[in-house]
Amino acid sequence: MAKTPKKEYCYLNGKIIPVNDAKIPVIDIGVLRGYGIFDSVAGIDDRIVFFDEHYKRFETSAKIMRLKIPLKKGEIKKIIEGLLKRNGYRLSKIRLVLTGGKTIGSLDFDRRSENFFILAEKTELPPKDSYTRGVKLITAEYEREIPRAKSNDYVAAVYLQPSQKKAGATEILYTFRGNVLEATTSNFFIIKGNKLITAKDGILFGITRDKVIGLAKRSMDVEERIVKTSEFKAADEAFITSTYKKVMPVVKIDNLIIGNGKVGPKTRLLMQRYNELEQK
Ligand code: PMP
Repeated sequence: MAKTPKKEYCYLNGKIIPVNDAKIPVIDIGVLRGYGIFDSVAGIDDRIVFFDEHYKRFETSAKIMRLKIPLKKGEIKKIIEGLLKRNGYRLSKIRLVLTGGKTIGSLDFDRRSENFFILAEKTELPPKDSYTRGVKLITAEYEREIPRAKSNDYVAAVYLQPSQKKAGATEILYTFRGNVLEATTSNFFIIKGNKLITAKDGILFGITRDKVIGLAKRSMDVEERIVKTSEFKAADEAFITSTYKKVMPVVKIDNLIIGNGKVGPKTRLLMQRYNELEQK
């Protein structure tokens, strides 16, 4: 693992400090029981990409998980902008993390002792050939516990990393009881004829998903609904979307080739439209 550079700073409970000095108590229910939420935002130089949308989702996650965000939106934005300037990376992976706080007994916690921190780490774009040649996914039978909330629980995704690596896959596509949901850190779409189809339940509402649906509506029919696994087997094109992967074409799922195995024209158009939107 790459060593965190000494000069990388983060925010923790009111202070801007070096990441290596940032510590939270071992009795936090986030540590003991995994109870907490986060959101992940891209930074380009000192610009936060789609901040309003990410903040709104962070608020939604907090509400669903009955957590209170200790700062106001404007304060959080200022802190992030300060971190981006201070760390000075071209591309940053900004993570807002809110834990429950001090554990009481076994399963309860003190609701006024949350830990709130913000990381702004260096990141890079995925390899170019992910976009020119497309990527592979493997499937696993799983649905995230509270799909609408971006909770810190990614146990299944972490557990499955060795299988993902062994298969040479970019992500794991979650299927559940015959339906296709989402991938480990992205949303999943198929194209059939002029239709763009994606799941509506059992998923996290991705910010990129929402933008891509808006862009697709200019020239395609969009269906947000239950998607059967049999449908991806018959798809013309498929892709995943996420903050860091943007629109990434999928050409293989397990041993199945999607369409003709090449990046399709409709996916390419959406890739282009999304990249333009992100630059604005
Ligand atoms: N689903 C899950 C489970 C995720 O972790 C992510 C990444 N945040 C997404 C979907 C895609 O969301 P976004 O487009 O906001 O990055």
